[in-house]
Amino acid sequence: MTSRSRLLNPGPVTLTERVRSALLREDLCHREPEFTELQDDVRSRLEGVYESSYGQYSAVLLSGSGTAAVEAMVGSLAPRDASTLVISNGVYGERIAFMLERHGKPFEVVKSPWTSGIDLAAIESRLEERRFTHAAVIHHETTTGRLNDLEALGALCSRRGVKLLIDAVSSFGAEAIDFEAWNVHACAATANKCLHGVPGLAFVLARREALTTETSAASTLYLDLFTHYKAQSEGSTAFTPAVPAFYALQEALREFSEAGGWQARRNQYRERSRIVRNGFREIGFRLLLGDEAHYSSMLTSFCLPDGLSFNDVYAPLKARGFVIYPGQHVLKQSIFRIAVMGDLSSCDMEELVSATASTVTPKGFA
Ligand SMILES: *Cc1c(COP(=O)(O)O)cnc(C)c1O
Repeated sequence: MTSRSRLLNPGPVTLTERVRSALLREDLCHREPEFTELQDDVRSRLEGVYESSYGQYSAVLLSGSGTAAVEAMVGSLAPRDASTLVISNGVYGERIAFMLERHGKPFEVVKSPWTSGIDLAAIESRLEERRFTHAAVIHHETTTGRLNDLEALGALCSRRGVKLLIDAVSSFGAEAIDFEAWNVHACAATANKCLHGVPGLAFVLARREALTTETSAASTLYLDLFTHYKAQSEGSTAFTPAVPAFYALQEALREFSEAGGWQARRNQYRERSRIVRNGFREIGFRLLLGDEAHYSSMLTSFCLPDGLSFNDVYAPLKARGFVIYPGQHVLKQSIFRIAVMGDLSSCDMEELVSATASTVTPKGFA
């Protein structure tokens, strides 16, 4: 095979040939019965990714990126007349607060430093002080690679009857999500991260009764989940969907279940990340979050040592077909990130480690 790019950014991911070929299926009008069949199949496959969501939650598809799904969730399900508690420890948590602000919906934020976990004690005391009906949180904070402790938060929300809205954009399909135990009201995700589809399609899995009863909370037209849900349940679509992205997601979901579902994918990611973490540590890089146990299966953030810029690491790797990812905002100059989603192998990871060792060591750690 000729040299292919190996994307180590957190989406879009390196596609399998099978998914890429699906993009070339026939042209299809979304008002035709064949599209209805395609859409129904994709929705039911998404509803079946996690056992704990099956039967109780419906998938609503949206043509757009992950942010569209998060904004649809927040814009449609966060109440207009009660405050939502936003739990934030990174770029994406902050983005949810910005969304609520734009939508004119009341909210309060419990904020932690980006390098810290969510502050469960502060959340609990905030929930004690005041009655919140909804809380919003990021499952895997891609800013740093931290997998937030939703088991503890979910138990807290469940005990207090707080409905949890989750941004699972970079975890859906490869980390545990317990819809029932965490009192998940809705969860937003995308086709092109852990599910290995192409960009252009995102979705919200929401409690079925929420989609049929809470119709007054929507502060958006294009991203109104209730409109999309109604149309999709009737075998139709509210607007023109990204048809080729449906083809690709269907194929990606077939591959996903044939390969053993989310647990198998998590195991694969863990193995790849293990190679990356051990290799990069040996070269001399430190983990931003200190302890490996804080990380998700699919992403690691490394500190750039003094005297080594992002470009010093990025450019030689790019020349070898590896695309690594910088930090965001205040972390832009000080870290880089390696994500291992997509059609990659352990061999790719070993090659990445040796390419890095041979190019950056002399400059950064001599
Ligand atoms: C990638 C990502 C998003 C959405 O990003 P898009 O660029 O809109 O696809 C949202 N939240 C998290 C946690 C993400 O990792």
